[in-house]
Amino acid sequence: MKFLPLILSHLTLLLLLGCVSRYKVSEDYRSNLSPQQYISPRSMTVVILVDGLPLYTLQSLFQKHQLKNIQKFFSKTQNKMYSGRSVFPSVTYANITSLLTKSPVNHHHIIGNKIVYNDKVVNFENPSSKKTLERITSTQDIFYKLNERKMNSVGLAHTFGGNATSHMQTDLKSGLAIVNKNYDYVDDKLIDAFKSLLEDVPESYWPDFVFLHLVGLDLTSHDRGPQSPEAIDYLKSLDHRLEPLFRVLERAEGHGKSVISLLTSDHGFDRGIEKFVSLEKSIYEIDDDVQILNEGRYLAVNFPASWPQKKRKDFLKEAAQRSSVGMVLYRSADTIHFENQEFLGTIEYTNYSCKGTPYALRTKLQKRDIKYHKVKESRNTYACPEVVDHFVSHYLPPFFITNMAAYFWEKAHPDAVILAKDHISFIDQYIGHHGGVSADEVMIPILLRNANFPTLNKHPHIEDLLKGFFSSR
Ligand SMILES: [Zn+2]
Repeated sequence: MKFLPLILSHLTLLLLLGCVSRYKVSEDYRSNLSPQQYISPRSMTVVILVDGLPLYTLQSLFQKHQLKNIQKFFSKTQNKMYSGRSVFPSVTYANITSLLTKSPVNHHHIIGNKIVYNDKVVNFENPSSKKTLERITSTQDIFYKLNERKMNSVGLAHTFGGNATSHMQTDLKSGLAIVNKNYDYVDDKLIDAFKSLLEDVPESYWPDFVFLHLVGLDLTSHDRGPQSPEAIDYLKSLDHRLEPLFRVLERAEGHGKSVISLLTSDHGFDRGIEKFVSLEKSIYEIDDDVQILNEGRYLAVNFPASWPQKKRKDFLKEAAQRSSVGMVLYRSADTIHFENQEFLGTIEYTNYSCKGTPYALRTKLQKRDIKYHKVKESRNTYACPEVVDHFVSHYLPPFFITNMAAYFWEKAHPDAVILAKDHISFIDQYIGHHGGVSADEVMIPILLRNANFPTLNKHPHIEDLLKGFFSSR
C-alpha cells in the first residue's frame, strides 16, 4: 500500500463518502444478518494481515521478545512461525487478491498494483480504481463465495471486502489521517471496529470469516525504511493495540467458541534501498511511445506495435547489461526468456495438469562467460513448477520459476519485465520499496492459532493460506 499522494487528489471522493464511525461495521453487520443464515455452532476464522511485514522483521523481534502480545497469542497451539511466499510481483494488490481469491495472479488478473485493463492503465493505489478492482474480482473472492453459501463475513479493510456481509467504508477521517501520516488512527479504527462488533453481537452470531487489513506498518516502512526505528516502533505499538482484541477472542474461546486466527503479510520489503535509478526516463528518451508501468522495484514494459521483433530483442539485451538491472524477462510463444549480466535462461511451458497449475515446465540456465558454459539444464522431460524451482534454487531467487511462470501465464502479461537489482529502485518517491523477487520481499511470516495447515508444504503460497479452512459442514 502506498496510496498516500493519490489520496489528496481524491479528497472530493472521500468527502462524498463522509465520516464513518467505528460502530458502523457492527450496525451494518447486525442489520444484514438474517436469522435464517444462522446455523449453530460455527467457527470464526480471523485473518490479520499486517501489510508489508517482512519475515526477517518478525523473526528478529520474536527472538528479542519484543512483540509479547502477538507472540503469546499465537503460541497457544504451537510455538512455530511458518514462512510463506508471496506471488510475483511482491506488491499489495496482486498478493491480497491471491489470498482472498485463493488463486494465482494469472487466474484473478491482478498482476500488479498497476495493470492494463481494457487498454487503459489502472492504478489500484488510486482510490477511484476501487470499483474496477471490485468488478474484476467481484465473483471470485472469499466474501462472495461465503455469501453464496449463506455464511457471514466482515471486511475490515479500506479496499477489500465489498462482498462481505459488512465492511469498513472508506472515510474522510482515515483518508486525512493517512495524508497526515497518522497511521495509528487508521489501524486503530479498524481494530476498534472489530472489537466493537465482537462485543455487540452474541458469539453464536459472530461472522464465519473476518479480514483485518492493517496498513500503518507498510506506510511507515515506505516513508522511513522497513528497518527504521519508526517502522519497528510502529510494529511494537501495533502489538499493544491488538492486545484487547486478543483478550476478547480468548474469552470467547474460554466459553467454547471456536476461533481460528491467522496473522500474515502480503509481502516483505527490500532491506534498504541505496540508490534510485531513473530507467523509466532513459527508456522514454529512446521512444516515448513505450508504455511503462513503474512499480519501483521493476518495470512492466509494453512496446509500440510498430517495433519489430529484432528491435525489441536488441532493446532488452541492452537493458539486461545495465548496472541497475537485476534481470530482464519476456515471453515469446511458450518460452519465457530471462537474462542478466551473469545468466541466460529459459522457462518453457507445456500443457500438463500439475497441482495448482495447468502447465509443467522445463528450464535451461547458462552462465555467461567467454564460453557460455551450461550450469543447469533440466532433462528433456518437463516437471511441475515446484520441482523445477528446486532444481535451480542455488542460482536464482526463491520461487523465481514458479512465480514468473504464473505471472507470464496471464493473458494480459506485459511484453517484458525489467527487474531492478537488490537495493535499487526505479522510483525515488519513498525510502522503502518492495515488488521484486528477492527473498526479503517474497518471504512472508505465517502465525496460526487453533489451526494447522492440512497439507503444509515447506513454504505455502499466499493463495493456499485460506484453502482448507472452510470445508463444507
Ligand atoms: Zn502491501
